[in-house]
Amino acid sequence: MTMSKKQSGARTSQPSVGVVIPLLNEVSSLSDLIAELEAVLEPYPDYQILFVDDGSTDESLSLLREMSARDPRIRYLSLTRNFGHQLALKSGLTRCEADVVISMDADLQHPPNQIPIMIDAWREGYNVVNMIRRAERTSFLKRLTSRFFYRLINAISDFEITPGSSDFRLLDREVVDLIRQMPERCVFLRGLIPWLGFRQVDIPFEPANRRHGEAKYRLTRMIRLALTGITSSSIRPLRLAFIIGATTSSAAGIYAIYALAIRIFYDAVISGWTSLLIGMMLLGGVQLLMLGVIGEYVGRVFLEVKNRPDTIVAETNLDE
Ligand code: UDP
Ligand code: MG
Repeated sequence: MTMSKKQSGARTSQPSVGVVIPLLNEVSSLSDLIAELEAVLEPYPDYQILFVDDGSTDESLSLLREMSARDPRIRYLSLTRNFGHQLALKSGLTRCEADVVISMDADLQHPPNQIPIMIDAWREGYNVVNMIRRAERTSFLKRLTSRFFYRLINAISDFEITPGSSDFRLLDREVVDLIRQMPERCVFLRGLIPWLGFRQVDIPFEPANRRHGEAKYRLTRMIRLALTGITSSSIRPLRLAFIIGATTSSAAGIYAIYALAIRIFYDAVISGWTSLLIGMMLLGGVQLLMLGVIGEYVGRVFLEVKNRPDTIVAETNLDE
């Protein structure tokens, strides 16, 4: 059964559509977002919008309660505290029962009018539809760091992530069920989904500017996400220690022969302090750096083996 679906060509059925939207303090975007989504989803007879409130401290949750009381197709899930965008998104995905599940941001940077295009691609037989940011509109710094990050991650991992990938995508039911089974807490969906390896398609889109509020992804958050991305996709950085070790040992061997040779044949000694200090600091630095790399992995092993649930739900109007 699964095989035939995996290899299926065009799909013609009218799927049930789920839209999962993690949000943190987005009260000022919500009304616009819901209005736009309702307009776009109108032609689909069976849809559900599932908001995941990631510990908002503004009025987002009370607005969600209000909106969902008015329309049963609007559902919400409220986490006990801020767990971070990736985990909020994962907990929404695992609770969405629709045939096709679309994830997007709440700040209207991911335009709802792309949804029909995404569903059309699904009808053509794709299991994953990735929406790719066109770079022109983003700031120079974001473009540079993002490019560097994707280069790095593609160099060290065994799959390709298209630069400009975002968490704006459509997933087929089969893919969502697999994500639901993934036990990991350190999730990087942009790496996990290509790893699953279904039929995927990339569609470029023009990101809108944020209309209200401000971006929650500050630099430290981006770095944390990048580290999770790298450590959850590959263990190649650990091999770096071996390569650096082999290189420095060879260099040290050559240098030792040279130092001994001039001592024995010319009775000369390389003068002390500067060369000693440089050597010591360099080696100390490299050792600490490699300990840090190992520490990143050990820390994540620790987080995974504790086996805690990845999020705690405080309140929801989903039937569970
Ligand atoms: N978000 C979240 N939890 C967080 C941070 C952000 O649920 O801890 C949500 C946020 O409300 C938005 C989406 O994740 O819907 C993307 O965040 P943001 O717009 O700040 O990031 P950017 O667009 O700069 O990548
Ligand atoms: Mg945004």
